[in-house]
Amino acid sequence: MNRPFLQIRGIRKEYGPVTAVQDVTIDVAQGEFLTFLGPSGSGKSTTLYILAGFENPTRGDILLNGETLLATPSHKRNIGMVFQRYTLFPHLSVGENIAFPLKVRRLRKAEIDAKVRAMLKLVRLEGFEDRKPAQMSGGQQQRVALARSMVMEPKVLLLDEPLSNLDARLRLEMRAELQRVQKETGVTMIFVTHDQGEALSLADRIVVMLNGAIEQIGTPEDIYNRPASAFVADFVGFENIFAIENGRLRAGNGPIALAMPLPHDAAGLAWRPRMVTLGSGPFQGTVRGAAFSGSTREYLLDTPLGALKAEVDAAAPAHSAGTTLAFDLPVEKAAKLERFN
Ligand code: ADP
Repeated sequence: MNRPFLQIRGIRKEYGPVTAVQDVTIDVAQGEFLTFLGPSGSGKSTTLYILAGFENPTRGDILLNGETLLATPSHKRNIGMVFQRYTLFPHLSVGENIAFPLKVRRLRKAEIDAKVRAMLKLVRLEGFEDRKPAQMSGGQQQRVALARSMVMEPKVLLLDEPLSNLDARLRLEMRAELQRVQKETGVTMIFVTHDQGEALSLADRIVVMLNGAIEQIGTPEDIYNRPASAFVADFVGFENIFAIENGRLRAGNGPIALAMPLPHDAAGLAWRPRMVTLGSGPFQGTVRGAAFSGSTREYLLDTPLGALKAEVDAAAPAHSAGTTLAFDLPVEKAAKLERFN
């Protein structure tokens, strides 16, 4: 079997009484685009800083091509980093910013010039080398930061929420740019975000983090369609989530039996609003609120199961607040949760 390219082995990080990261173990393949997804404080950045060498783990090891990285100082790890803030030198031109890491390593001028040109081409900023960062847009500055981190030809590139300072349109553009740069260079990317859309659209695999631990690892399809826990389900937009207790759904007013038997191996079931059948079924709910989004209508229902969200095509007839509607929660459509947290 091929040895994994990058091995994160049982990493734990304690800051006094706070455990920022606990027992994180992941094998990363060469050329993979991995994202760490989780709410603020879930340990994403700490894991990244340990990889970069800015922090030492309390326990555990990081292996690159089978060799520990922990003994290697940050600047010798051959790991690049892009931050949320662009961290460019304001008094240096774009070209000088990109050349900076090469100058520190005393490469010859001709070699530096060639590499800077190649990087400007890679991030599509040819002709911008003499500008100062302040004369560039946020998206362009982040491309310069990307070029500067790629110029050393890192084995791994770490990105800590690099798109969160950009507006929505630029963020989409930069997602595509990052994917292109990764494909062209083959660099292994590890990307931290709290934005599920960003993680889903970028990653080969997503590591969902909660309270410093891995909650689920999977492809974007796994995470989106087969969340393992109530937390992941909620995070990716399943808004109707119920625990299973003695073969019934646990609801606010007591357990509720569904028409179909519930799976024995699930701790809970979750439905996206559009998975709820509205207009027919064994249950009744009263419309408390309705929202029209253009292509869909979303209803908030008061039901024997508690508050429920249902979404239907906007072409369906509208229902106003106070209307009583039949509905069903089809078991075959539900995501089966392994853990209820
Ligand atoms: P995320 O990147 O997911 O927002 P972090 O890795 O920054 O999460 O933080 C994880 C936890 O560790 C948080 O509870 C945070 O407050 C704590 N933490 C991070 N850095 C330090 C530090 N230097 N000292 C003390 N606690 C820290």
